[in-house]
Amino acid sequence: MSDNWIMIVPKLSEHIPSEANAKATLELLERMMPDADEIEIIQNEHVQFFDCGANFETVSCTRCNADIDVDWWGEAMSLDYDEKAGFQLNEYRLPCCSSSAALNLLNYSFHQAFGRFALSAMNPNIGKLSDDVVKKIEAALVCDVSVVYRHI
Ligand SMILES: [Zn+2]
Repeated sequence: MSDNWIMIVPKLSEHIPSEANAKATLELLERMMPDADEIEIIQNEHVQFFDCGANFETVSCTRCNADIDVDWWGEAMSLDYDEKAGFQLNEYRLPCCSSSAALNLLNYSFHQAFGRFALSAMNPNIGKLSDDVVKKIEAALVCDVSVVYRHI
């Protein structure tokens, strides 16, 4: 038995959409994903990590495209996370090409995101969202979003 989630996360990690926009988007998702077990709004005081679970394959550098060692990444994740204040998203010097980047600016396959807000749909059973659907969601939420597909 496995479960899947589609999580919609604003691209700006600190951004929280207005309550009215969040509610309108929730209703939009409920119409688009009638089979979902649950669709909820997640909102946090601090930045949290929305992971893709078993879909995680690689993390890589957006500058030089090299894969980043997962152990290095794990250590950077621990270092960046403050128990009281969540993820700080500080810049770290990367092991590949010695450019610096915050953890939310790395390339994850599958995609993973950092944020204070998400809309999360459990077992929506609709596959991947098309670009058109993502645009509709962005229009309803009034911000740019990225989509995390979590499989557990
Ligand atoms: Zn690099």
